[in-house]
Amino acid sequence: MSSYGQLTTYARFAVGLRRYLREQATPELGREVIGRLLLERESNFLTLVRRAVYDNPVSPYRALLRMAGCEYGDLERLARTDGLDATLCRLRDAGVFITIDEFKCRQPIIRGSTTIHSEPRSFNNPFLLRSLTTGSSGSRSPGTKTTVNLDRSRYHALNYTLVFSAHGLTGTPTLLCMPILPSAAGLAMLLQSSKMRVPPRRWFSPVQSRTIKPALSKRLATLYVVYAGRLFGAAMPSPEYVSGEHTQQIVEALNAVLREGNGCIVYASPNLSVRICQGARAFGRSLTGATFIAGGEPLTVAKRKEIESVGARVIGQYAFAECGIVGFGCAGETHAADDTHLIRSSLAVIQRRRETPFGGGSVDAFLFTSLLDKTPKILLNAESGDYGSIETRMCGCELGTLGFVQHLHTIRSFDKLTGEGMTFVGTDMVRIIEELLPTRFGGCSTDYQMVEAEDGKGQTRLYVLVSPAVGEVNDGEVVDCILSELRKGSDTNRMMAEVWRQGGTLQVLRQQPRLTRGGKLLSLHVMKTPPV
Ligand SMILES: [Zn+2]
Repeated sequence: MSSYGQLTTYARFAVGLRRYLREQATPELGREVIGRLLLERESNFLTLVRRAVYDNPVSPYRALLRMAGCEYGDLERLARTDGLDATLCRLRDAGVFITIDEFKCRQPIIRGSTTIHSEPRSFNNPFLLRSLTTGSSGSRSPGTKTTVNLDRSRYHALNYTLVFSAHGLTGTPTLLCMPILPSAAGLAMLLQSSKMRVPPRRWFSPVQSRTIKPALSKRLATLYVVYAGRLFGAAMPSPEYVSGEHTQQIVEALNAVLREGNGCIVYASPNLSVRICQGARAFGRSLTGATFIAGGEPLTVAKRKEIESVGARVIGQYAFAECGIVGFGCAGETHAADDTHLIRSSLAVIQRRRETPFGGGSVDAFLFTSLLDKTPKILLNAESGDYGSIETRMCGCELGTLGFVQHLHTIRSFDKLTGEGMTFVGTDMVRIIEELLPTRFGGCSTDYQMVEAEDGKGQTRLYVLVSPAVGEVNDGEVVDCILSELRKGSDTNRMMAEVWRQGGTLQVLRQQPRLTRGGKLLSLHVMKTPPV
């Protein structure tokens, strides 16, 4: 973008930010706005598809709908008579869906003998205004961009008011423990909590800006939002850099807030949440009164237990980069550690059976559909790369009573590996495992493998398996080799390398690489338990 274009963007953002901060997100406003959206799902869906798909010549969904012989009138009739979910299932069966590889443009969209042209921006939401464009953490291809958008922040702040009301946390002070840009999630949480008039007391970014060297525009964008927010009356904290290895500073800040007697909400990834709790135990501190809002990677039984063992509570938050927030943890009768209410006011979900790339057979993948122009990308039966269970039931919590009756749980990724809230797939990692390590340490590509599994303490670990057939190898050198190669890549890769170094996430094991249940050998592999 030209510097004049950037100035205009910043100026427009500032005007929007002032208006954004003037209105407070309260549970009453949340019930009114979200309650109305829940009654208008079909019409919101139809309006969005007409504007963002049928009227949008670059949308790959338009070509898919045409191939399925579904004109707008047909879709409208179907949705009005059969309802939204049944319509989406009919579309899926007619080939109107997008796999995660197609969504990420890692594979062309082919249906029958037709190939549909697409590039990453073909899926962009054409209606995002008042946005600052940033790169995304978890971006699996270099072209992926997400934006900090105030309309979306308002919508999610209203959702949060309902979540906090359901969990008895309205008005509770907050701490933010998420990275600065290029990960957009920290800035989004800063804006949402400020709109609820509970801006974070402190903002601890688990990565140093100078270590990951984000582009100047991204560092300035973070500070710009903070200073502009203060100018408009919100007490926004500047980010403080705390190494993920040293959680003592976070534990002390958290204890200081807890001593005031009003509890404390902590926004952090599940892995960092677990480490903060382990830190608290090591310093002999109780975290009673603290509630972690943990998103970005699966909230497993082991992680939940670790967090609860120091007296804290945890509410899961399910999100992915192209969509933003998908759902929030249930406050009622739950069926799993990650029992999540789907935000049905802006999303619909169905499933599709498919084979998985990292072993493990076939799974029921989620297909998400946007109903509002709040998602960075437009989704129409688009895979997120995750699978899990869907249930429609009453759980007794306020979110269910309001109309969020669909629960997702036991959510796992089939597409990517996750470590410390950093998701990756990747071409980069496959190249490192299959080419770089054998060149550097000997053996061949099948002598090395990266395995993701959760250790006994609830931490997600990445194990680098090196076949015993490869001779003498220094474990530390293998880890250094992987991290320094990652650091040569994008700023997302540099951030990931730094977080993994601090967390001691990579561990070398001298073992034969594992086969999938189907007998395949993959360089990146997911296992339920550690291969030790
Ligand atoms: Zn519930």
